[in-house]
Formats: sequence, C-alpha cells, structure tokens
Amino acid sequence: MSESVRPYTLVAELTYQCPLRCVYCSNPLDYGRHDRELDTATWLRVLREAEDLGVVQLNLTGGEPLVRDDLEALIAEARRLDLYTNLITSGIPLRRARLARFRELGLDNVQISVQDTVPAASDRIAGLRSFDRKLEIAGWVKELGFPLTLNTVLHRDNLDRVAEVVALAERLGADRLELANAQYVGWALTNRAALLPTPEQLERARSDFLNRPQAAQAFVAAGQQPLFRADELCAAGAEGCDMGLSGGMLPHFAVHGRGDQHPGLGVQRQGQAA
Ligand code: SF4
Repeated sequence: MSESVRPYTLVAELTYQCPLRCVYCSNPLDYGRHDRELDTATWLRVLREAEDLGVVQLNLTGGEPLVRDDLEALIAEARRLDLYTNLITSGIPLRRARLARFRELGLDNVQISVQDTVPAASDRIAGLRSFDRKLEIAGWVKELGFPLTLNTVLHRDNLDRVAEVVALAERLGADRLELANAQYVGWALTNRAALLPTPEQLERARSDFLNRPQAAQAFVAAGQQPLFRADELCAAGAEGCDMGLSGGMLPHFAVHGRGDQHPGLGVQRQGQAA
C-alpha cells in the first residue's frame, strides 16, 4: 500500500436545500441555480470509492441533509463499508422515528447546530423559530444513545456568550462542542460587515474557552479573524475533502471558496440575492 497522504474524512454535501436561512450560511448566493443534486446511485459509488482511497469518516451534510429521502440508504452503505458516519444537521425536519431508524442502520454521531444560547437571538440568526425544537432534538439524540456534537458558529452577535455556549453544551450532555468561526464565503462574506467580531471580543472569547479546556473541543474553520492560532486547532479535516453538488472534490472547506464575491453592508439571506 502506498505511504502517500490520503484523505481520511469525506464531507458529503448532499443538498443546498435548508429550512433555515442563517445569515452566515456558506451556501452559494445563487443556490437556486444549484438544483441538480447527485442521485443516490452516484453517492453510493462515491462512498465506495472514498473507502477505497482510505477514507474512514463520512460527514453527511448540506444545506440540510435530512431533506434527502435516501439518507437511510447512504447510512446503510456507510455502515457496510465500516465508515464512521456523522450526520450534520439543523435538526429541524427530523422526526424521532427517523432518528431511531438511523441508529438501527448504523449512524455513529449526530451534530446539531445551535445559533445562540438566547432563544430570540438564535431564531433571529436562523431566520426561523427553531431554538426550542433544536433542544428537543438534542434530547432525542442522547436518549437514543448517540454521541452528540453541538455546533455553534461564532460572530459578533454571540461571541460574548462563548461561556454560555459551553454551559449549554454541558447541560445538553454534548460529547463534543464545535466552536466555529463564520467562514467568510457565501452569505457570511456578503454580511461580513455585521458579523466580524472586534479584536476585544476575540480576546475575551479566547480567555473564556481556554479556561474550560476539558469542557469542549474546538474545531475552528478558517476565518478572517481566527479565534485560535493554527497550532491550537483540532486536526480534524486536515486531510479531508469536500464533495459538493456538482460532484467536484476539493480540499476541506474550500468547496465554496470564491474570489469573485463582494461584501455587502447590510445583512442578507437566502432568497434575497440579487
Ligand atoms: S448554515 Fe443555516 S441555513 Fe445554511 S445550511 Fe446550515 S442550518 Fe441551513
């Protein structure tokens, strides 16, 4: 077997559809034109080929992957291939019975995003009343015996509440907390004037986190003002790749990178793109 570096994790972006409209979403601004998703047979082939390449971890994501009715087939194939499979979801379209079925089929981990610890602020960022529902679903995840990852994207409006985010993760029994900077592509780039935190906020948040090293693991995606130095980052994704709707495969988190987008001044959402 070759000793060359191989990707060990695959981020499978199954769809750009989503019931939420987060102001920092990395979906493309013209996402309405990306309506041709890869079909089930193609994704099953991709999973097999990824496993052949050495991939051992699969992240099923979107948009909102729950809108796909073939998740069951993809999870079952991933289990057959012995991939560690993580479902990355807003949680909103989920039903408990479907989650239980995922468990039977071999899903390993569920990651739920929570936009803030203050319900009204969370709902405002998400563009939909969703906070209470997300907490209910996080409860199902634990009841059904899954490990739970909580994900919160950090920006100017919530960065002063990192300690509350950690406390919420503890209260929900999360096994892992992912604190991510907004990735300044897509809608986050358009809205960056409103989202970028101040240097003082970054330093306060950094102190909050470093005082709780045992309570949370941070995975911080590349941002314009990263919260942590590169040598403090989790290694997750360092040798991974993203596969988007077009079938193009790119280095992890580069799949949406576009140099031709320009920042706007106000906050905009999906459905409001020019
Ligand atoms: S960032 Fe928000 S709107 Fe975008 S896919 Fe995730 S949950 Fe949906």
